[in-house]
Amino acid sequence: MTLVYLNGEYLSAESAKISPFDRGFLFGDGVYEVIPVFGGKPFRLAEHLDRLDYSLSQIGMTNPLEREQWQDIFFRLGADVATPDQSIYLQITRGAPLQRDHRFPENSAPTVFVYAKPIASPSLQPQAGIACITAPDWRWQRCDIKSTSLLGSVLPSEEAARANAREAILIRDGMAFEGASSNVFAVIDGVLRTAPKNRYLLGGITRDVVVELLAQHPDIAFSEAAFTAVELRSASEIWISSSTREILPVTLLDGQPVGNGEVGEVYKRVWALYVAFRQSL
Ligand code: PMP
Repeated sequence: MTLVYLNGEYLSAESAKISPFDRGFLFGDGVYEVIPVFGGKPFRLAEHLDRLDYSLSQIGMTNPLEREQWQDIFFRLGADVATPDQSIYLQITRGAPLQRDHRFPENSAPTVFVYAKPIASPSLQPQAGIACITAPDWRWQRCDIKSTSLLGSVLPSEEAARANAREAILIRDGMAFEGASSNVFAVIDGVLRTAPKNRYLLGGITRDVVVELLAQHPDIAFSEAAFTAVELRSASEIWISSSTREILPVTLLDGQPVGNGEVGEVYKRVWALYVAFRQSL
C-alpha cells in the first residue's frame, strides 16, 4: 500500500480522491516539485522549496505550508518507503471551486498532494551513454515555472521513447535550451556550455549543482551560454541533468554518434565532482 498525503490527511493511494472540479484537472492550474532523497536525506531540499515558492509566486499563489510542515510530510511518507533512496513528488493546485471558470476562485483552498516512491541507489560509477532525439519545442514562454501543464513535455517524451531514446532535446527558434524533462549541457569547441536561466527553460536544481561545482573548478572551460541546434550537433559531448536521472551522457543524438560515440572525458570529470559532492552530504 502506497501512503500519500492529500490536503492534511495521510491515506492509501487507492483511497485518495480529488474533485473533478480541481483546477489542476480542469486547467493544469498548479505547480509541482520532484525532490530526490539519497540515503534518507532530501537532496537540495531548500533549493527545491525555494523553486516551489518561485513557481507559486509566478502563478499568483502563496505556499500553503511552512517548511517544517513540508519536512514533516516528507519524513512521514519517506518512512513508509522500503528504500532510503526515494523521489518525492509534490503538487499544489489552485483548489476545486464547484464551477469551471478561468478566473482565480475567491475562496478556494489549494489542493496539496505528496507521495514518495523508491528509486534505484545512486551510482558512484559514470553512467552509461544514452540515446536522445531532438524535437520541436512548442511549449509556452514560461518554462521557468514548474507547471503541471505538461503536454509540451509529454508528447516529445513519448516520441523519444518510441524511438528507443531516453530524452527529447527541444529546439525552439533554432536554440537547444533544454530537454523535455532535463537541462542540457554540451562541450562545443572544447568549452562546456549550458543555457543561462531564462523563461524558455526550467532552472534545474541539478543544473545549479553542476554550475556551482564548475565555479570551484575553473580549469574546466565552462560558459553559461545558450547554443543552437547546429552547435549541439557539432558537440563532442552532450549531457542531460535532472533530479532523478542526475547527469547522463548522451552518446547518440538522432541516431548519430555524439563526438566519438563514447562517454566523454569532461563528463567523467564532472561526474566525479558531482558524486563526491553527493556523497559529502
Ligand atoms: N527542465 C525540465 C523541463 C524539467 O522537467 C526538469 C526536471 N524536473 C529539469 C529541467 C531538471 O530539473 P531538476 O534538476 O530540478 O530536476
